[in-house]
Amino acid sequence: MADAARDGSLPVADRWFDVTEVTDGIYHVTEPHVHAYVRSNAWLIRGRTAHLLVDTGLGVGALAGELAALLDRPVIAVATHAHFDHFGGLGEFAERAAHHDDGEVLETAADYVTLRAATYPVALLDEFEAAGEPVPDLLIDAVPDPAFDLAGFRTRPVGITRWLTDGDAIDLGDRSLTVLHTPGHSPGSICLWDARSQTLVSGDVLVDGEPLLDQLPRSSPADFAASLRRLADLPLQTVYAGHGPVFGRRRAHEIIADYLSGRD
Ligand SMILES: [Zn+2]
Ligand SMILES: [Zn+2]
Repeated sequence: MADAARDGSLPVADRWFDVTEVTDGIYHVTEPHVHAYVRSNAWLIRGRTAHLLVDTGLGVGALAGELAALLDRPVIAVATHAHFDHFGGLGEFAERAAHHDDGEVLETAADYVTLRAATYPVALLDEFEAAGEPVPDLLIDAVPDPAFDLAGFRTRPVGITRWLTDGDAIDLGDRSLTVLHTPGHSPGSICLWDARSQTLVSGDVLVDGEPLLDQLPRSSPADFAASLRRLADLPLQTVYAGHGPVFGRRRAHEIIADYLSGRD
């Protein structure tokens, strides 16, 4: 941490994002100073002809600048879904892709947050309550730079330049990922599937260590179950989720079985 912010309320982070290469050409990007409940994982997958950035965090720090050294090809930035903790930085990128069924929420930032508790979405307040956690006054514990406008921040609406549908291929030259429309958490939730490496980027559809959220305002438990049954049929080896740790096939099947038990 460097100096305190100008208003003295929060320290200034030396670095806003944490960026780690987890395997050859795949980078984990997260925001250590964001409250754990809204701290998401973004995944940068570098390819020979293009790079794919899956999710973009809260939008507090400048993500494109942080990743600049890794972005030496055109970048396709994708939102797995329209929750504010996943698409905050999407507007920093020229090519911005998402599924149409979450499009209106992205383009109007209908689920926006400010950083102050007074405007947290009800679903987030419910999560704090369910966990027995006090609701924090701020969603961050540092600011990215001394001039950051803490009071004025809100999730920004973002125009989508490419609508994704189920089965679309995102070609990176030496790898290709297939869009899977996996509604349930939200109507437009997608996963990205690399059949060659048997890798799934799962957004909030398949997450380890946290409940699968199917009671949010636009959630559908029936759709969620159908999406998980579909994922269970994939020969997946590695899952890069929207929150929490990376996990493998066995854990994926446990999570899916837990969710589906009692629903069939
Ligand atoms: Zn979500
Ligand atoms: Zn999330």
